[in-house]
Amino acid sequence: MCCPRMVSGRRTCCVCERVLGSGAAMVIEALSLCFHLACFQCVGCRRHLGGTESGVQVRVRNRKPYCELCYFQLKYTGALPM
Ligand SMILES: [Zn+2]
Ligand SMILES: [Zn+2]
Repeated sequence: MCCPRMVSGRRTCCVCERVLGSGAAMVIEALSLCFHLACFQCVGCRRHLGGTESGVQVRVRNRKPYCELCYFQLKYTGALPM
C-alpha cells in the first residue's frame, strides 16, 4: 500500500493527483496517502472529512477517502448511494 506517485519527495494528492503545495494537507501516514485539505472529502457524497467538527469516520478504499456510510454502501452493494 504505497502511493506510486510519491517520487523524489514530492507528494501528490491521491484524489486530484496534483502536487501538494506548502498549504495544509491531510496525510494518512499508515497508508502513505496524501490529500489536499479541500480534496479530503468523501468520493461518494462529497461530504468533507477533514477537521474535528465534522465527526465523520474516514474510510479508505482504492486510495480514495470515503465516509463510513458510503464505504459500507460500496462494500456491500458495490455501488455508491449517489
Ligand atoms: Zn487534491
Ligand atoms: Zn459519503
